Amino acid sequence: MLRESLVRGFADGIVAQQGLIAHGRGEMFYYLLGERTIREARIASRAAAALLLKAERPVISVNGNVAALCPKAAVTLANAASAKVEVGLFHRSDERLSKIQAVLEREGATQVLGFLPDERIPGLEGSRGLCTREGIFTSDVVLVALEDGDRTEALVRMGKKVIAIDLNPFSRTARSATVAIIDEVTEALPLITGSLEEIRGDSDEIDRALERYNREENLGAVMRLMASNLGIESSESSHG
Ligand code: ATP
Ligand code: MG
Repeated sequence: MLRESLVRGFADGIVAQQGLIAHGRGEMFYYLLGERTIREARIASRAAAALLLKAERPVISVNGNVAALCPKAAVTLANAASAKVEVGLFHRSDERLSKIQAVLEREGATQVLGFLPDERIPGLEGSRGLCTREGIFTSDVVLVALEDGDRTEALVRMGKKVIAIDLNPFSRTARSATVAIIDEVTEALPLITGSLEEIRGDSDEIDRALERYNREENLGAVMRLMASNLGIESSESSHG
């Protein structure tokens, strides 16, 4: 079903060619994960919810794949977190951007930023560095999904707290984000929204969610699980 949504999104001009290839990479890592939401993803999602609740200017960044796979889940999270929605495209065209904007508006987004960029993310060449002052440029917390490592790293360099949803624990995105959720995006977004409702207004629980999350530890556990699903003994266990 996910693959079909992607293909339809491609035919409709929402998904880029490169987006189809990226999806294939995602499917491969999802296999290694056992195609399920693992404990580490739940811990990371709770930390992500805490970051969003503590944020003053949160933004959910949406690209073509997210718009094709789960536009409703993205808008629902944005509304729950009082976050702005901004479309950020690696392969930008006005036509694709306005189509994605229309999809998000159809799902109830009141304001979608990105069509008229007036700022740049330092360090990113060409149209992929474009963003809006009202949205990503002045944000303090940005959620990106299926994002390229260059852009994630550039956002982190700008001093932003970055939440990344990415099935690849080895990607530069996962390794540079403040919080990296290793799960399929259609599962991860509702998971964050659910956690957000659970801990909303409970400042102790919000702090605890952040304390419980450690990126290196979390990614390490995911990598060990993938290795073990492949029948490979991880170096740690083989060293006793
Ligand atoms: P890097 O972060 O090192 O640049 P990359 O070049 O592979 O990695 P992109 O292709 O720009 O990054 O981003 C796509 C990422 O999204 C890939 O890591 C892929 O595994 C992941 N991905 C693809 N489909 C999904 C999905 N449905 N849910 C979650 N993650 C996905
Ligand atoms: Mg890349």
